[in-house]
Amino acid sequence: MSAYLSSLLADLAAGEWICGSTFYATMRPTFAQRFSECNAEARAAEGEERIESRPCKRHEHRGSIFEYRDRWALRPQQLRLVG
Ligand SMILES: [Zn+2]
Repeated sequence: MSAYLSSLLADLAAGEWICGSTFYATMRPTFAQRFSECNAEARAAEGEERIESRPCKRHEHRGSIFEYRDRWALRPQQLRLVG
């Protein structure tokens, strides 16, 4: 896993929705591409996508900004690894 993706997943490690604007603000503007690659790997390995996305519900954005969640962060075994 790339350091870039690792840094993104670290932000999602609590299993909460994180707004894409967070990644722009922290100079990681290609997060969407990294998540897409991550989901492709997850589909190949486990038959399901790892990173969920939906239009951001937390802020009033002018354009369409998505927020993201790591579904694997919600797994008990993942919590053990993180904790
Ligand atoms: Zn937002």
